[in-house]
Amino acid sequence: MPKVLLTGGSGFIAAHVLDLLLKRGYEVVTTVRSETKASPIRAKYPGAKLTVAIVPDIGAPDAFNSVIASNPDLDYVQHTASPFHYHWTDARTELLEPAVNGTTSVLRAVAKHAPSVKRVVVTSSFAAILSEADLANPHRTFSEADWNPSSYEDGVTGSAATSYRVSKKFAEKAAWDFVATEKPGFDLATICPPLVFGPVAHHLDSLAAINTSNGRFAELLQGKWKEEIPAAGVFLWVDVRDAALAHVEAMERPEAGGKRFFTTAGYYDNRRILKAVRAAFPELAGQLPAEDVRGAPGADFPAGGSIGFDNSRATNVLGIDWIPLEKSAADTIKSLQGIPA
Ligand code: NDP
Repeated sequence: MPKVLLTGGSGFIAAHVLDLLLKRGYEVVTTVRSETKASPIRAKYPGAKLTVAIVPDIGAPDAFNSVIASNPDLDYVQHTASPFHYHWTDARTELLEPAVNGTTSVLRAVAKHAPSVKRVVVTSSFAAILSEADLANPHRTFSEADWNPSSYEDGVTGSAATSYRVSKKFAEKAAWDFVATEKPGFDLATICPPLVFGPVAHHLDSLAAINTSNGRFAELLQGKWKEEIPAAGVFLWVDVRDAALAHVEAMERPEAGGKRFFTTAGYYDNRRILKAVRAAFPELAGQLPAEDVRGAPGADFPAGGSIGFDNSRATNVLGIDWIPLEKSAADTIKSLQGIPA
C-alpha cells in the first residue's frame, strides 16, 4: 500500500485530501501543529492506516527532517500547509518565510531522507498566477502559463492580499527551482486553485475558527449580509472536493508530473451564493437577506465581464467534472449548521 505524507492535515483543503487518500487505500502520515489538532483527526479515523505527527512550525529550519527521516519509505508527498489568514503583524516572518521555507524544507528533507518518493504535489494558488493590475480586465485570460509579476518586496510592503499572493508565488517558484536545480529523484505537480468553497471536513470548535475562504458562508449564516452583500473579490472559485481530487489525481496520473494545474470551476458572485442558499434552505429565510438586498461595490458579477480563465489542462489531464456553485454553497451551509458561533 503506497504511503503518502500530507502536511497541514488539520486544514480545510487537507482534510478532504486526507479523506480521499484513505478512501483510495493509501497509508497516510499527516502533520499538524499540536496534539490538540491531532486528536480529532485520530478520533475521526479509528483503525485507519494513519499516523498524525507534530510539526509545530513549518517555517522553522529543517522543520520536516524528523518526520520524513522517520518515514523513509514514503512514496508521495502532498504539501498543503501554508499560512492562509490575515492575522499576522509582520508579513515577512509570519507569512512569506513560513510559506517559502516550509516548501523548501519539505523538498530538502524528501531528497535527503526518502529516496522512494516519486512525486511531490504542492498546493499553490491562483495567487501565484494572477496579475493584480489585470484583475478587473475582461480581455485578460489567465492560465498555467502565467506567473504573478509581483516582487518579494511587494509582499513585504504591500496590502494584506498582496502579501498573501506573493507568499504563494514565491513558495511555488521555490519548489520549481528546487527540482530544476537539485534534480531530485521525484517530480513535481502544483495545484493552483482560486477561492475554495465547500463543506468543512476538518474539526471546527466554532464558526469564528472558519478557514479564510469559507468565511463568507459563516457570515451569511450569522446574518451579517442582511443589510448588504459584501464584495466578492476575484470572481473565480472551486469546490474543495474538486480541489482535493485534483491533488490526488495529480499524484496518481503519470502525465501530471512537471505541470501546474489552474483548478477553477468558473465564475461566482456573492448574490449567486445567496440565491443558492435561499433556494436550498427555505427554513432559513428569516435569517437570510432578501434576494434584492443591495450589494457592496464588487458583490455582483461585473456587467462588462470579469477576467478570462483557461481550466482546460485541469479538466483534461486530471479528469475533473466541476461541482456546480449551487451544490457547493448548499453543502457548505449544511456542514456549518449546528457549529456554535
Ligand atoms: P487552512 O488555514 O484551513 O489550512 C492551512 C494549514 O496550514 C493549516 O493546517 C495550518 O495549521 C497550516 N499552517 C499554516 N501555517 C503554518 C505554520 N507556520 N506551521 C505549521 N502549519 C501551518 O487553509 P486552506 O485549507 O484553505 O489552505 C490550504 C492550502 O491551500 C494553503 O497552502 C493555501 O495557501 C492554499 N490555497 C487555499 C485556497 C482557499 O481558497 N482556501 C485557495 C488557493 C490556495 P493551523 O490551522 O494549525 O494554523
